[in-house]
Amino acid sequence: MIIVMKVGSPDVEIKRISEEMQQWGLTPEKIIGKHKVVIGLVGDTASLDPLQIQEISPWIEVVLRVEKPFKRTSLEFRHGESSAVLVSTPNGKVPFGRNHPLVVVAGPCSVENEEMIVETAKRVKAAGAKFLRGGAYKPRTSPYSFQGHGESALGLLAAAREASGLGIITEVMDTADVEKIAEVADVMQVGARNMQNFALLKKVGAQDKPVLLKRGMSATIDEWLMAAEYILAAGNPNVILCERGIRTFDRSYARNTLDLAVIPVLRSLTHLPIMIDPSHGTGKAEYVPDMARAAIAAGTDSLMIEVHPNPAKALSDGPQSLTPERFDRLMKEEIAVISQAMGRWQDRDVAVV
Ligand code: PEP
Ligand code: MN
Repeated sequence: MIIVMKVGSPDVEIKRISEEMQQWGLTPEKIIGKHKVVIGLVGDTASLDPLQIQEISPWIEVVLRVEKPFKRTSLEFRHGESSAVLVSTPNGKVPFGRNHPLVVVAGPCSVENEEMIVETAKRVKAAGAKFLRGGAYKPRTSPYSFQGHGESALGLLAAAREASGLGIITEVMDTADVEKIAEVADVMQVGARNMQNFALLKKVGAQDKPVLLKRGMSATIDEWLMAAEYILAAGNPNVILCERGIRTFDRSYARNTLDLAVIPVLRSLTHLPIMIDPSHGTGKAEYVPDMARAAIAAGTDSLMIEVHPNPAKALSDGPQSLTPERFDRLMKEEIAVISQAMGRWQDRDVAVV
């Protein structure tokens, strides 16, 4: 349920209503929108009559039910206003969200050694990326495949952060690793395979770093949003939703089916920022640029693209990784043009060719 306050409602009145709601056994959450303040109510509201709440104060404009199973994640909970996730990086704060410029995240699938991660960081930064991605802990289908260098790779990510000024996005797979990854990561990634690892969701929800929540490979949109709800319910409002391709019947040509329809669907359901990952979504470097452009045209807030200095030699996901040269061209000749057309390009550091 949400209480929409009238424009100009005094703070003391909002506080008084919130306290009264607590006495009713509900958890109130104050959401300051562009024009109005909304008090979101979480708890057992099924038996409550909205009109009964309305009578509490003449400053209440309307009381509305949130019909969706996900509450804090829903667009209704913020009365239709999108939220922005503001991420601190060495180069300042970068906002992800509907009303902000497109944010591009790039880097290798896994952190292989210092030279490659620092070189990649510098190359993707020069091309206009704002974040470096790279896994220290890798979720691999086979236990015999490269599992990532683990803790030592966190140190390499820290070196790349220092050398480039880029923010770092890296995956956390185990609740036991959350604290040490949070020391290096500016955004904690929860991968597709862990989307419903509820212990992990609660743990990343109870710390301060923003979370990138990838869609499970067979997850419905409701399941994905309920997974996000776990993080919000644990106290962390900063979640970015990343579509990375789902399992469908045909895997002959593309690794997954990149579901770009989630962009308008998510817009109608949630206030959270959206990211599209065309690298895992297609599994082939040659398909990535087309899907990156399509995602921007469909209104994504951010992109995640795998880039490796030598894809043929990559320890994981080489076939879907772009070379730094191809990434540079993609940014300057393709992403810049379509982002400008969509009103989402503000990076004056990078000239549009
Ligand atoms: C990754 O980003 O490298 C990764 C493993 O992604 P996903 O969880 O989407 O498979
Ligand atoms: Mn990968």
